[in-house]
Amino acid sequence: MDVYLSPDQLAMRAEVRAFLDEHYPPERILQIERDEEYPDDFYRECADRGWTGLPVPVEYGGSDGSVLDLCVFVEEVGKTSISMATLYITGTIFGSHALHICGSKAQTDRYLPAIVSGEKRFALAMSEPGAGSDFAAMTTTAEKVEGGWRIRGAKGPISGAERAEVVITAARTATYPGESRQKGISLFLVDNPTPGVSFERRDYLAMKALMVNDITYDDVFVGDDAVLGEIDDGWLNLARLMDPERLANAAQAIGVAQAAIDDAVVYARNREQYGKPIARFQAVSHPLAEAQAEVAAARLLIYAAAHKRDVEGPCPMEASMAKMLANNVAGRATSAAMQVAGARGWEAESHFLRRNLEVRGCELGGGTSQIQRNIIARHMGLR
Ligand SMILES: Cc1cc2nc3c(=O)[nH]c(=O)nc-3n(C[C@H](O)[C@H](O)[C@H](O)COP(=O)(O)OP(=O)(O)OC[C@H]3O[C@@H](n4cnc5c(N)ncnc54)[C@H](O)[C@@H]3O)c2cc1C
Repeated sequence: MDVYLSPDQLAMRAEVRAFLDEHYPPERILQIERDEEYPDDFYRECADRGWTGLPVPVEYGGSDGSVLDLCVFVEEVGKTSISMATLYITGTIFGSHALHICGSKAQTDRYLPAIVSGEKRFALAMSEPGAGSDFAAMTTTAEKVEGGWRIRGAKGPISGAERAEVVITAARTATYPGESRQKGISLFLVDNPTPGVSFERRDYLAMKALMVNDITYDDVFVGDDAVLGEIDDGWLNLARLMDPERLANAAQAIGVAQAAIDDAVVYARNREQYGKPIARFQAVSHPLAEAQAEVAAARLLIYAAAHKRDVEGPCPMEASMAKMLANNVAGRATSAAMQVAGARGWEAESHFLRRNLEVRGCELGGGTSQIQRNIIARHMGLR
């Protein structure tokens, strides 16, 4: 099933697996989630091993990895911890791709080498309390003032924001009556800390090590050099970011699902009822067999879409199909795995329960499955 992967990708995957198995056994993951411990050491190791340079062009010290490379990486990390995989996606991939897509020379010179070295992690603040799926309804504004811009409003929920060194912030800079609401949105590189920016952590049931925040912008001044891309055209640049984001989101969901299936197989072989391992009951084995087939199919769609993105360029329909399928499959797989574990799957510190909650949260990021269906339908000419 690794038909899309090169020897280099297989070697990277093996290296990532060996590192995570050594440093992040299951009990350590439980602990960082329980204690809401931001995985600084994971990030440092990623930098030391060159993995934070994966999405960064060679001229800035990175290795110019493909979208497929990134999917392979986050899938493997997702098997161990979705908090760490999501931190990598926001901290490293969003930042480097956004700068690559629309950063000025001064911005790329300043930030890309710092992403490679692990000194700068990014967060991407699009959603607002009143503007989730309908992100163009945002009310955060940026007003032109002498020497820069003044940002006012609120964002959330935003992954990893309080620990990011830079928050890419989408704000409305103009309205164009009679035209699309998408026009008039601009992007700003807001360094953290900046006076007026404050964070509150959301109390979520899972992905606690990720630290998901609400952000308040209270008359925040940023200089003209903080504008990322053209003023009023932020939507176009965000749209260009979405393929890799959705494919990476899908890949991490599949990583979580595969880990849940693997654990359920071990559990089913060891747990005995009625004098034999429960794996021998077809009602136990078939849901896992079906989940495994679905995960394999979703993985192939992700790899094919990533390959298309790398070879041909933008592939919004394929990225949405991969995200929707992967998240749905991951929901079913983690649920089937939890059922296999019986009452143990329901315990507060059960990995089965944790993974089921994680894929629910993962499904929301980058647009829900309903929104992905809307996008797919639009590309099919149905809307
Ligand atoms: C763990 C986590 C991390 C996140 N990280 C980030 C981040 O880093 N940056 C960021 O900007 N955002 C982030 N988000 C926010 C995420 O993108 C939003 O939650 C998501 O877009 C949905 O918005 P909402 O929660 O406001 O739901 P709503 O938009 O209120 O939707 C509620 C329900 O209605 C459905 N719905 C809404 N409109 C339609 C429609 N037109 N057609 C069909 N169904 C529809 C939705 O699918 C959903 O089921 C994160 C969310 C979570 C849970």
